[in-house]
Amino acid sequence: MASEDAPVDAIAGVDRVTIQAGKTYLRGKAASPATWSKESGPGQVAFQDPHSLITTATFDKPGSYVLKLKAANSSSTLNVSVETPPPPQQLEAVYTRNFKIDSKFWNARAKVLIANWIPHCIDVINRNDVTLGPGGIDNFIEAGKKLRAEPAGEHKGYVFSNAWVHQTVEAMSVALMIDPQGDADIAAAQEKFKATLEDWIPKILAAQEPDGYLQTAFTLNRVNSRGGAAIESNKFVHWDSKHRGDHEGYTAGYFLESAINHYQMSGKKDARLYNAAKKLADCWHNNLGPAPRKPWYDGHQEMEQALVRFGRFVNDMEGGGRGDKYIETAKFLLDCRYTAAVNPDRDRQEYDQSHLPVTQQYEAVGHAVRATYTYSGMADVAVETHDPDYQSAVRSLWDNIVNKKYYLTGGIGSGETSEGFGPNYSLRNNAYCESCSSCGMVFFHWKMNLAYHDARYVDNYEETMYNALLGSLDLEGKHYYYTNPLDAKMARSTWHTCPCCVGNIPRTLLMVPTWAYAKATDGICVNMYIGSTITVENVAGTDIEMVQETDYPWNGKIAVTINPKVPKHFSVRLRVPNRTTSKLYRSTPEVNGLVSLTVNGARVKPVIEKGYATVTRNWKAGDKIELELPLKVQRVTAVDKIASTRGKVALRYGPLIYNFEKADQDITKALPPSSALTPEWRGDLLGGLMAINGKFADGSKMLAIPNYARLNRDKDLPPEAGPLAADPSFYMGPTARQPEPPSVAEQAQRRARTPSSIIWIETA
Ligand SMILES: [Zn+2]
Repeated sequence: MASEDAPVDAIAGVDRVTIQAGKTYLRGKAASPATWSKESGPGQVAFQDPHSLITTATFDKPGSYVLKLKAANSSSTLNVSVETPPPPQQLEAVYTRNFKIDSKFWNARAKVLIANWIPHCIDVINRNDVTLGPGGIDNFIEAGKKLRAEPAGEHKGYVFSNAWVHQTVEAMSVALMIDPQGDADIAAAQEKFKATLEDWIPKILAAQEPDGYLQTAFTLNRVNSRGGAAIESNKFVHWDSKHRGDHEGYTAGYFLESAINHYQMSGKKDARLYNAAKKLADCWHNNLGPAPRKPWYDGHQEMEQALVRFGRFVNDMEGGGRGDKYIETAKFLLDCRYTAAVNPDRDRQEYDQSHLPVTQQYEAVGHAVRATYTYSGMADVAVETHDPDYQSAVRSLWDNIVNKKYYLTGGIGSGETSEGFGPNYSLRNNAYCESCSSCGMVFFHWKMNLAYHDARYVDNYEETMYNALLGSLDLEGKHYYYTNPLDAKMARSTWHTCPCCVGNIPRTLLMVPTWAYAKATDGICVNMYIGSTITVENVAGTDIEMVQETDYPWNGKIAVTINPKVPKHFSVRLRVPNRTTSKLYRSTPEVNGLVSLTVNGARVKPVIEKGYATVTRNWKAGDKIELELPLKVQRVTAVDKIASTRGKVALRYGPLIYNFEKADQDITKALPPSSALTPEWRGDLLGGLMAINGKFADGSKMLAIPNYARLNRDKDLPPEAGPLAADPSFYMGPTARQPEPPSVAEQAQRRARTPSSIIWIETA
């Protein structure tokens, strides 16, 4: 951990990656004079000042280096992996637009999100009597009144309560791009989404201040949580360091993002949110920047990645570099972390990643959602600027997370720091793993895939999506988890005191076209295998309808029909999953590569590069690629440095990580290495899934189910978010009740509960 400990003799610092054109920032610690030197490595190392603890080093050749800091009586080393820069041009993101899902697995998951979960979010947001996690559309209605100089109520809920309204707008917009294919429940939900958008959009826009600023906690007076008179909003200055924790950028960012998918959904015909988002982004750009504008950074990041995503979108919609200024503002906000005018009370802390300039951060620390949103925004800036220091920090942070602070489910955040990361290799199974941090990781990995054209980053976001993120919802889509520990002993809730994840989960999961494909200058990348029909625009000068027929992840056989509007010569890059991207985990037997690949029935032996099997030829409508990915049950073990998984094993089948549940067996029993493990399709179990059968050490039957289906049968668990939060009538009934916090005795009882569902099981 990069904490400010008392000086000790010779601590060189954390391991990192450096892009060869750049430098690494060294911040050694030593109680006596100390000197830097190269211990090993293939090339020359130049230190700016080898006798200064705080200095930089540059490298003339790629490869693995060890740097040494030697003080009077001790020395310490750090590892630097020097890499060549990423390709000059990134892969291009595929925007979500009208598409069709044809997948046993994904149709079921999408249906519950569309027919149950999003409508539930709408209903809670529409209420004005919610007491646990309040603050919905009512805040926008009141802010509109205030701006029209009518009597207005006080702001409700957290300062960031606008966030779940914007996320739900984005989730509705994405869900409206999914073909209902005659499903009456989906069609009915979509009618509700259309009506809700028509109701909400004027209310949201009426809350936008004349200069474009939008956050109702700054427009309305706030409830004084200590009692007494309300706090008058005209006392709040926008972007003031005393209000760094007020989530101005966090809520603004979700609004910009919602406008992208809303504009896409309307076929670029309804520009109400798009234009309002430009006005808001302009407001930020006009006020924040080099003098005479203001310096600023937000306590909770999100605006940074949103400004780049929106800036690129504006560039694509309008051309002429009209979105460039938003991208510049994003970089400015990131560069202000640590360096901006400070409020000594709360600035420069690991919690919000302001402890060092972002280009000098190599270890993932602090609040995990804030962290992933920062790193995701940094990955964008690295791509836009080709700044090697940005690239080095981004690769280092990614490497640190995936190889030292990463759960097998693709989740992050042990919760040992406030809602955040613990030290390297400290991965307790009673993890925090907030659902929003999983969304953040999906975005971060995705941007690394776009920057590096490397399929391994898709392995990661697929892992996070199938396990950590899908596992947050129940199978009916009526309850969700805010935290996602690997040893689970709580029930999901319908809402939460802090409902930041409620819209984030569906808006992220449903953007299938964006996750499934990416565009290269010479072709298309098939990143995820999901039965679907998706049109990808403007590839090699034509639009291509991509039709995937597959039962993946239940079956490894995949057919991809490529229908370009006009015949063209281009490359199709098919991702070949390689589930060994984290050095923390080892799966046996190894399951890599392709079983087979044919084009129009003829066998092809493709070159596999950066995790993609590439087929380059003239493509015409109806050409068909058939491939088979190997799927086998794998045993997973973790490195010995992780204390919580020693002597334990986990199970994997393709992208799916498995759980052992009390509902099926005594989960304190041991699963010995000698037990044969066989997959079995169980149409009768939890909506139909591939179960894994085996035998415990005592000869009794063992059954494992995928993590996304965990804890759907145990009805006696205490809810995660308080004693009443699992009861829909609490929110939806005639009176909203204030929940009783659990008593001290109940809290102790909950902690003492043995888990009901686990990922890691004893082997002996
Ligand atoms: Zn959240």
